[in-house]
Amino acid sequence: MQDKLFVNNEWVAATSGEVFDVVDPSNNAVVHKVAKAGPADVDAAVKAARAAFDTGPWPKLSGAERAAVLRKMGDEIAARTDELARMEVLDNGKPLPEAVWDIEDTAGVFHFYADLAERLDNDAEEEIALGMEGFTSKAVKEPVGVAGAIIPWNFPMLMASWKVAPALAAGCTVVLKPSEVTPLTALELGAIALKAGLPAGALNIVTGLGPDAGAPLTEHPDVDKLAFTGSVPTGSRIMAAAARDVKTISLELGGKSPLVVFADTPIEEAIEWIMFGIFWNQGEVCSATSRVLIEAPIYDAVMARLAEEAGKIKIGHGLEDGVLLGPQVNKAQQGKILAAIEKGKAEGARLVCGGGVPEGFEQGCYVEPTIFADAPLDGHVWNEEIFGPVVCVRSFTTEDEAVALANASEFGLAAAVMSADTDRAERVARAFQAGIVWINCSQPTFTEAPWGGYKKSGIGRELGVWGLNNYLETKQITSYDRSKPWGWYIKE
Ligand code: ADP
Repeated sequence: MQDKLFVNNEWVAATSGEVFDVVDPSNNAVVHKVAKAGPADVDAAVKAARAAFDTGPWPKLSGAERAAVLRKMGDEIAARTDELARMEVLDNGKPLPEAVWDIEDTAGVFHFYADLAERLDNDAEEEIALGMEGFTSKAVKEPVGVAGAIIPWNFPMLMASWKVAPALAAGCTVVLKPSEVTPLTALELGAIALKAGLPAGALNIVTGLGPDAGAPLTEHPDVDKLAFTGSVPTGSRIMAAAARDVKTISLELGGKSPLVVFADTPIEEAIEWIMFGIFWNQGEVCSATSRVLIEAPIYDAVMARLAEEAGKIKIGHGLEDGVLLGPQVNKAQQGKILAAIEKGKAEGARLVCGGGVPEGFEQGCYVEPTIFADAPLDGHVWNEEIFGPVVCVRSFTTEDEAVALANASEFGLAAAVMSADTDRAERVARAFQAGIVWINCSQPTFTEAPWGGYKKSGIGRELGVWGLNNYLETKQITSYDRSKPWGWYIKE
């Protein structure tokens, strides 16, 4: 496992010599120590990225040439799937099948953006029809410059790929700051880039804490674009830092996403997606459908089956066979979730199941699958993102009521609706104020489709062509054919 910073295609210690602990959340044991970058290290990484952009080969290569390197990176990630997935389990705690899924997705993201890089050779220019004779014009897409990417700990390698792959595809150079909670797989991207032949400085990786390494990256005048996934308070701080130098920015922040279940949904189908919507990845998912609204006629039946099934989820170490719920990512996160559960109880939400640390798992950061009913609409657990396996369920009686309850949130990342009536499902999908809407499912995420939120859930879209456009500037080039003098000052 790597333990140094990756700057200009070299592995270097932090200038301070400091390191920080990487902890296995299943038992709180320190498993590795990684370089702790400070402002001087971030400055060196940004300078390397700046030089690689201004004078290096990467932005000048053809899309096909960049695609060849990205494809090799994707191939190498795919070839190392099992090893990288196990590293993710050690670092994040998630069950191995989920980690394998993440790594396969990560390889897919590199392959997808390799294809888009190649397409740029034909798509990067567009003729523009002008309303004046004598002039022709075209719009040309160019890389934005140096991109600073700051990512969270819930899908460590996948979140890195959502930013690094489109940025490199566009011809940008990158400084990546992984979460200090889960730095291991993101660091491997350095080794993967080296092996694939990425030129020096095109990708730099600095591990360190938010204030020491993240903040200097956001404030650095040589960074042209910031891409961030994480919490609302940090996102808002990053936006303020970006404002000073007017950097372009994309933010994917929190959510408190609703899942509306109409009574014509088969109960077992509803249970499957309600559970997948909140318990998958330990509930540490920004798009988790953590507010469930169930139409009154099936409310009691769904609640009874839901509590029964939630109680059967196999909890344990991510490498154990059949485990569907691993530990939360660290003690701090576990503490935040348990505190939110206590707030829910105090404000009168009814605990239907779970609510604590599962018996026999006190050595790690585990939290039971937890279901609240009757959470007050103005209370903490109904409105605030908990980022854990905690779901609040309420009943509704009309479609209008369901939509109003679903939209009554300061977030707007995702929303889901289940119904056998396709017209109704489509109507509700259109009425949701959210950037990602699922019909008859919750959470499946596709590299080809736009990802991002309304309201406080963020700015801009990642993935698909939208993800690539985050890293492209548009330049207008207009020519005059000199067929006659312009004649404003110089009269014939
Ligand atoms: P959490 O507290 O759940 O880890 P954050 O949104 O704070 O969520 O963290 C997401 C990422 O943002 C991490 O990589 C973290 O180091 C980074 N970060 C935290 N604070 C700052 C900051 N002030 N400026 C830039 N990055 C930061």
